[in-house]
This record gives sequence, C-alpha cells and structure tokens, in this order.
Amino acid sequence: MKKEISEILIIGAGPSGMVSASYLHNQGIKVLVVEKSIFPRFQIGESLIPQCMDNLEEAGLLEAVKNAGFQKKFGARFIKDEKIGEFNFSEKYGEGWDWTWQVPRADFDHCLALEAQKKGVKILFDTEVINVEFKEGHSTTIVRNSNGELTEIQANFIIDSSGFGRVLAKQLKLEAPPQIAAHSSIFTHIEEPDRPSGKEGEIITFEVLETQVWFWYFPFSNGNSSLGFVAPTHWFEQFSKDPDVAMREMMNKLKFYNNRFTDHAFIFKPIKVENISRNVTQLYGKGFVLTGNSAEFLDPVFSSGVSFATASGLLAAKLIIKERNGEKVNWENEYVNYIKEGVLVFSSYVKEWYSGNLQKIIFHRHPNPEIKKQICAVLAGYVWDKTNPFVKKHEHILQNLSKLIELEEASH
Ligand SMILES: Cc1cc2nc3c(=O)[nH]c(=O)nc-3n(C[C@H](O)[C@H](O)[C@H](O)COP(=O)(O)OP(=O)(O)OC[C@H]3O[C@@H](n4cnc5c(N)ncnc54)[C@H](O)[C@@H]3O)c2cc1C
Repeated sequence: MKKEISEILIIGAGPSGMVSASYLHNQGIKVLVVEKSIFPRFQIGESLIPQCMDNLEEAGLLEAVKNAGFQKKFGARFIKDEKIGEFNFSEKYGEGWDWTWQVPRADFDHCLALEAQKKGVKILFDTEVINVEFKEGHSTTIVRNSNGELTEIQANFIIDSSGFGRVLAKQLKLEAPPQIAAHSSIFTHIEEPDRPSGKEGEIITFEVLETQVWFWYFPFSNGNSSLGFVAPTHWFEQFSKDPDVAMREMMNKLKFYNNRFTDHAFIFKPIKVENISRNVTQLYGKGFVLTGNSAEFLDPVFSSGVSFATASGLLAAKLIIKERNGEKVNWENEYVNYIKEGVLVFSSYVKEWYSGNLQKIIFHRHPNPEIKKQICAVLAGYVWDKTNPFVKKHEHILQNLSKLIELEEASH
C-alpha cells in the first residue's frame, strides 16, 4: 500500500474544503485533500449569498471566481400569486458585500479547486476515504482510487468537508435528528436561448406555490438555468414516479412561470433528494473537525449552504493555525458556539418561512424600509451582526412582526 504523510488531511474538495485548504496553504501549512469525484462534477447549491464573498476573499480564492464570469446576483425575488417581495443587497442594513453570484456548481467548484492547485495545494481526485482511525494524537486514513489502489494517509488533524458524504459523522456515529421538518427537492437544468433580456433574465426568483412548497429559477451566465422544487416530503407523492414526468407535472402548477419552460428539454434527468436536512451530535473531537454540510444542513430556502460551508471551513482553518502557534483553542466556544449562533439565526428564518410568518412579512405591500434593510442583511448572510435587531432578536421578532401585520390587515 502506498503511504502519504500530511500535517492536515482534508476530506472533500467542495467549497468548504477548498476554503480551508487554500487558507492553510497560504499560511505555510501542508495540507492534502482527497476528493472522491473527478472535477468538474455536478453539485446542487447554486445561489450564493454575499457573506460567502468574505470567506472566499480571506481564503485568497475570490479573484479566480471573479475572472470566471459567473452571473452576478444583486438580490432575490419572491413571488406568490400576484404578490412580489424583492430584496436588493445594496439596500441592506450594515456592512458587507452587496452582491454575489449564481453559479453552476460544477464550474464554480472546479474553479476553486484549480485555483487551490495553482497555489500548490495537493488534491487527490477520484480518491475516496473508506476508513479513518484515530490513535494517540494522530489519524490513519485509508483511501481508494477508482482503480482499486489503496493509500494510507497519516495526518495530525482531519478536516471533514465531505458534505453529504458525511464521512466522520457516519464512521464515528455522530448523526443527529435534523432541526427542520422533512423536506425533499427535485431539480434539473435547462438550456434557455430564448431567455428574456435584462433583469428578468438575470434575477433569481422563488415562486411560492403553497406556504410550504416553492420553486426556484436561477439563470446562469452560460445560457442554462436551474429549476427546482422544495416541499414537505409527502407533497411529492402525488406526482409520477418518473422524475421527467413528475417535474413537468409540478411545473404545470406554476403561475408566474407557467408555460415559460414548456419547450425546454431537461439537460439531465431531474434529481430527487429526499429529507434534505442534516445534523450531528458533535462538530469536533480530538484530531478532527467537521465543516460545511458534513456537519449540518438546514434547508435550501435562503441559499445559506455555501456561506456556512465556507464560513466554517475558514474558521476551522484559523483555529488550527492558532493551536499550531501554541495558543489554547476552546473549540466549543470559538468554533461550535460561533457556527451554531449563525445557524440558529438562519433556522429561525427557515422555520418562520415555512410557518408562513416570514412570507407574510416578505409579501407585505407596504414594508417598513428600515425593517426591510435589516431582514435583507440576514438574507445576505450577515447573521453574526448583533447590532441588527433582526439578528439579535431572531427567536421572536418575525412572529411578532407577522402578528402586527395581521392586526393591521384586520383593521382595514
Ligand atoms: C436541494 C438543495 C438545494 C440547495 N440550494 C442551495 C443554494 O441555492 N445555495 C447554497 O448556498 N446552498 C444550497 N444547498 C446546499 C449546498 O449544496 C451545500 O451547502 C454545499 O454544497 C456544501 O458545501 P460543502 O463543501 O460542505 O460540501 P460539498 O459541496 O457537498 O462537497 C463535498 C465533497 O466531498 C466529496 N466526498 C464525499 N464523500 C467523500 C469521501 N468518502 N471521500 C472523499 N471525498 C468525499 C464529495 O464528492 C464532494 O465533492 C442546497 C442543497 C440542496 C440539497
């Protein structure tokens, strides 16, 4: 068996793994990344939010993405029947980026990986982690490539960024019940040569069919667009078992986008992912940390996945450097509590979206401009800014505001 030694082993070359790898490498630390697929490979999670720009920038990956020519995203639009709620990130409360991108993830993830390689990060593609053992302060990992060749990797520390591969969560039995009720999703891409010009062909849109059922439309700069539905798992049972037919049946239920995509062939058979949300009992342990989706995933609504994946990847890398420099790291406070703080804010927004309270606020015809700015900052991913009342009081503020809107509507 071949042998490799690396100070840090990173499992997975998605955005979380690439931000960790690039940041650590830039600080002179030897990392080895193992990735089971060959890039470019398809991945879902295509609408970014501005906060992830901070993470890409700190990891030294932003310029490469800027040069890739992805579709810029300046905000998002929500539509339900005749009601429209639109957010423009340039009108958000507080500091931070006011734009980002919507990206075909095959190209985006490839761009990050190529840039990390260009810096000197070693990535073993087509190589899957099949076993990890921790002993006396270091780890031994067995990986296998598609020719069946095995390699043993010795590392002092493992960053598990394996996304839904959930390598350490499975191996160390860290899986926990999800925080969000069971939702599923089905999605595909289309070619869209007849896309409307201007804003209509650029803005990402969420069309709400029922309070808990929504559709996404993300136009990409390569002329293709992403279409998908998210709903409670049982909602999908009424449709055909054939994903092509089911997706068309669902699209017939759209109002705003009705008929818009009828003549467009699917680029690939629609993919269904069941019961999307993931959680773990533990985010770190002796010799390892979980980042990105290998740790947790809430729900696609509000597109927070890549932002959390890169934020946690970056923070884990910074704490590893701190520890390496001989400083004490309190992983519970400095990592778990920080990440959970952000996740809790977003989970309030996700829960109140599905309860209908947040939809009442978003579709309110006369929104208070200050409140809208503060909510916009949360949707941009700035969920750690406690000067924002919509961050600080996230647990109740949406319910209270929704009640006020109800009372106001009842009095008219
Ligand atoms: C339906 C749906 C819609 C979504 N929409 C959005 C959205 O609009 N915006 C958004 O930001 N997020 C969205 N997400 C979430 C997004 O997909 C993830 O948050 C994001 O991809 C997480 O990045 P990551 O780096 O943690 O993991 P990934 O991107 O999944 O990368 C993990 C990598 O690890 C590799 N790997 C897995 N197992 C192994 C192994 N055993 N050995 C070696 N390598 C391994 C995989 O091949 C993969 O390349 C969505 C998710 C779903 C399910």
